[in-house]
Amino acid sequence: MTGIPGPRTAWSSPPTLRTMLLPLAAFVLFLAAPMAAPAEAPFTFDKAPGRLPKDVVPLHYRIAIVPQVKEKTFTGTESVTLRSRSPTATVVFNTLNLTLRNVRVDGKPVQRVVSDNQGQLTTLTLAAPMSVGVHTLTLSYNGVIGSGPQGLFAQPYTQPDGSSGLVLSTKMESTDARRMFPCWDEPAFRATFQLTATVPAEWATVSNMPVAKRVVQGKLATTTFERSPRMPSYLVEFSAGDLQEVAADHDGVHFGVWAVRGRESDGATALANAQQILTDYNNYFGYPYPLPKLDSIAVPGGFSGAMENWGAITYNDQLLLVGSRSSIADRQAVFSVQAHEMAHQWNGDLVTMGWWDDLWLNESFASWRAAKETDLRNPSWKWWEKQDADKESAMRADARTSSQAIQRHVTDEVQASSAFDPEITYRKGQAVLRMFEAYLGPDTFRDGIRGYMKARAFGNATTADLWNALSKASGQDVGAIASGWTEQPGFPLVSVTASCDAAGKRTLSLSQRRFLLQKSDSSRYDPATSRWKIPLQIRSGLAGVPRNVLLTREAQSERAGTCQEPLTVNAGAVGFYRVQYDAATLVTLSSTFGSLPDGDRIALLDDQWALVESGAAPLASYLMLAASMGTDLDSRAWEQITEALGTVEYDERGSAGHDAFAAYGRSILKPVAEQLGWDARPGETPAIQQLRRTLIGDLGSWDDQEVIAEAHRRFTSFLSNRGAIDPNDQLMTLAIVAQHADATTFEQLHALAKQARDDAEQTRFYAALASVRDSELAGQAAKIALSSELPAQAVQLRFRMIGTLQNAHPALAWSIFSANAEMLLAPFGHNAPLFLAQYSPNFFWNSLPLDQLEGWLKAHVPAEMSPNVVKGMESARFKASEKAFLVPAADAYIASKKNPRNGQS
Ligand SMILES: [Zn+2]
Repeated sequence: MTGIPGPRTAWSSPPTLRTMLLPLAAFVLFLAAPMAAPAEAPFTFDKAPGRLPKDVVPLHYRIAIVPQVKEKTFTGTESVTLRSRSPTATVVFNTLNLTLRNVRVDGKPVQRVVSDNQGQLTTLTLAAPMSVGVHTLTLSYNGVIGSGPQGLFAQPYTQPDGSSGLVLSTKMESTDARRMFPCWDEPAFRATFQLTATVPAEWATVSNMPVAKRVVQGKLATTTFERSPRMPSYLVEFSAGDLQEVAADHDGVHFGVWAVRGRESDGATALANAQQILTDYNNYFGYPYPLPKLDSIAVPGGFSGAMENWGAITYNDQLLLVGSRSSIADRQAVFSVQAHEMAHQWNGDLVTMGWWDDLWLNESFASWRAAKETDLRNPSWKWWEKQDADKESAMRADARTSSQAIQRHVTDEVQASSAFDPEITYRKGQAVLRMFEAYLGPDTFRDGIRGYMKARAFGNATTADLWNALSKASGQDVGAIASGWTEQPGFPLVSVTASCDAAGKRTLSLSQRRFLLQKSDSSRYDPATSRWKIPLQIRSGLAGVPRNVLLTREAQSERAGTCQEPLTVNAGAVGFYRVQYDAATLVTLSSTFGSLPDGDRIALLDDQWALVESGAAPLASYLMLAASMGTDLDSRAWEQITEALGTVEYDERGSAGHDAFAAYGRSILKPVAEQLGWDARPGETPAIQQLRRTLIGDLGSWDDQEVIAEAHRRFTSFLSNRGAIDPNDQLMTLAIVAQHADATTFEQLHALAKQARDDAEQTRFYAALASVRDSELAGQAAKIALSSELPAQAVQLRFRMIGTLQNAHPALAWSIFSANAEMLLAPFGHNAPLFLAQYSPNFFWNSLPLDQLEGWLKAHVPAEMSPNVVKGMESARFKASEKAFLVPAADAYIASKKNPRNGQS
């Protein structure tokens, strides 16, 4: 599954204008429970965790469904070929909200059928024990078509021309296949599937495999798909509706991109991407994609993110379709999400984690592989630098005492959602894999992955299987080095103390301790017990090749060039750890800051800001670095700086020092913005164009009068000529206009939004509208966000608008959000409570008193989510305490700039 790997969302902090410019992340989620897992053994079916007995296993399912769309119900028949591994009179499998009839084994009625929706299990008692060997279970059943993405669901939509329709689709991960058919719904129970569906004859149907047979009878058509390879039940897919495809054949595979009729031509970009990505992955994994076809299905609206069903990947339509008015950010989201879901065709589908505690084997791998692919095919996007923002986001989450390990023990999948953390399972895991790829070398790492795929194809795996494959390829005990990163929460701060000999040669003394943003409550956690084997990349000087060093000992000593040279121990910002340099080394680094390699400079900015936030370094130490950027054009470094400055600016709002700090922030950004101007130049990279938008957007947000006036001038032209602003710049420009809008301008923006010609315009124009600062107009924007003016499928746009309103109107946004949470979170399906418990506090920390927020959350999420509320509230309380120390520190710094004799904070 995925959200948007990469850019953060309208629902992330800090809430500067920039966050509104980024595409809305579809949130993505999952399950697990909060203890560190013990070291694991390689996968065996009998030892795989789970609730289902292993004495009866499914070999092949034949499933036929007939949806009654109007009634939101369906009927089904199923025949499952079973293998009994020991004589038993009891057969247990998963069902949820299904009513079973005519249950027979080998044609004979069973004695008793007990379905328990609470436990999501059905237990059959047979008249006599089944013998060891192959048997057949047959049954009929009724089920319910959902309105949210769980099991078989219906998604209504409205086209720009006003016509409306309905698409049926499925989303099974993690445990919702049991809502569509009785099954052994745990990942270790691989079987083959053959699906049949009867739907209106004018509809198209798509499933994991190609169509084997289609029979039309009157107004209905019955389609049977070919038999799938052996796979887990959570990968079954079925979609149907008034869908059309664009298609191509490449490398012996048929590619289709499906969309609702009229939108299919917007699938051309995704179709080209898919062919390119598949060629690269066939080569990288050393195991050719094993299915005859790969479909990508654009599900309109509500469905959040994307899902890697084998051979039939489903996407929220905005993550798959690229129209003529789409922006580069839209294209980046499409490519990177495709790269993620297609990586799952190997990591997840061909080789599946044995149980949900190793979900990272699916998700971290898909995220890491997608970033590598996106970077490879789009070098001008500087994708790894963009991924640094995700890594920072993960480190922020992992620097809390309530953080959890990548591998987590899960006993019961029905407790789902209670402890999944996308920051850890996707982003930290991705960063840790990148660190180990760099440590082992990319070719050795790839050879290990190839060995892993070959050994486990069409089967399951544990983390131990991965470490063993990497050990075999590298000749090192990878598990011994890597397990500390996956089996315990947190990450280290590496302290570096340099000493110089008489000849100026430098020797480093290196030590580690866990990095926490706030001092730990020692009754809950002792940071002294955490230790890691840390792959350092030490570079002395500006151009030297970094040296691989594994930090394993206390006060480990390493030679590192000469004392005059700059130094980094996290070259290229590849490592998942922080570094604190001694004062003299930091002075050397500050003086050479402008000429450091981009990645080294990014690592220094990230670390210095985190040290400020944790209270380990003064704010001035960071601001001096930021001011040393000059007119360097590295986009990630600037993004890091504008994010940090934006945090202070937000915290300063309403205080006496705000305007002076905003002016200071503008003074740092303005020279670069002036150098870049407003319009893209020929040959400019997307990264530079993104930098321009970041800087102008923040200048507008921080009240730069020239920027505001220019945005207005461009908006006025745009009203009469839609070609006057490049699609990439529209959200930035319109958001600046909206921030400073009066009633007349607001009405003009609203009219523009109502006239949007496609989803891309609609998303931009309405999101801009929600940037308004005027309180009365903000109330109008909130009403619009909830109104039927937006089409049926636009739930995520509503969500984004409320998220954007939070920036200038925290109390209003909370009141709207809390009153409509169920509707706004519907696209997240069963993971909605997780968003509420763990992510909303990080966003609404400034909207209402924190005790009140905590009380509301506890009253609105299930009891098993309380650890997530703890995580969310830890983050919210940190932000409040951060505000309390950043504001006076910033005021003192600004005062010292005006009057240097006052000294610096
Ligand atoms: Zn995924």
